[in-house]
Amino acid sequence: HLAVSLRGVTKTYDNGVMALGPFDLTVRKGEFISLLGPSGCGKSTVLRLIAELSAPSSGIVRVAHREGVVQPGHGIGFVFQEPTLMPWTSVRENVRLPLRLAGVPKAEARGRADAALASVGLADFADAFPRELSGGMKMRVSLARALVTEPDILLMDEPFAALDEITRFRLNNDLLALWRSLGKTVIFVTHSVFESVYLSQRVVVMTARPGRIQADIRIEAVEPRG
Ligand code: ADP
Ligand code: ADP
Repeated sequence: HLAVSLRGVTKTYDNGVMALGPFDLTVRKGEFISLLGPSGCGKSTVLRLIAELSAPSSGIVRVAHREGVVQPGHGIGFVFQEPTLMPWTSVRENVRLPLRLAGVPKAEARGRADAALASVGLADFADAFPRELSGGMKMRVSLARALVTEPDILLMDEPFAALDEITRFRLNNDLLALWRSLGKTVIFVTHSVFESVYLSQRVVVMTARPGRIQADIRIEAVEPRG
């Protein structure tokens, strides 16, 4: 079963920049893939097209299980390099926000936010404020906020690029453990060859702009990692 399919997709922005394509990509449900490629080759554009934050100039973008869903981006969690947490509210409140916006009752939203925080190792930090947290912990909050709506697909746009190497490695391992236990489809954009090979089952390498597929490499794990 496919989670995502892009067929003959191109994207030219209003300023005339041809960012992408033609680009073809299919991602199976539960797969963890990395998108690797030079700066400006259209990696973020691919994620925005999948999340329906942007429309293709031509071609077809399909995302599974969204028939009848009115809200764009439903069923999708997005994690950016900048955690963009609201500084004046608690960690719990930050994670609970997407549920509140979706009309989930307050008490249920609180329970689900706390569970999401526990799943990223921050059970004890629900009442903290973002400014009290390290960069790695802020990223964990951002991940919890993306997971709290229980999306089928997690889109991650260079999430760990700004973190120091040790923190980044810890987050890589914890993300892998989460992926194994939650079984979500993950599309992970990175500049790091190491990160792409370490994390994913498949590395899709893109050409310079306009981004096309240069290579699509299956990573065989000889023994279970982690
Ligand atoms: P990557 O994520 O691989 O760095 P992007 O998808 O962000 O690449 O961008 C691809 C190209 O499209 C870049 O040249 C970028 O400057 C351009 N671009 C991205 N977003 C816009 C936009 N909203 N308007 C105009 N040009 C854009
Ligand atoms: P970093 O603090 O370097 O960003 P991580 O984000 O990888 O490291 O955190 C690893 C784990 O250590 C987290 O799950 C968190 O529970 C715990 N942790 C991190 N910083 C603190 C802290 N200041 N106090 C208590 N526990 C912490």
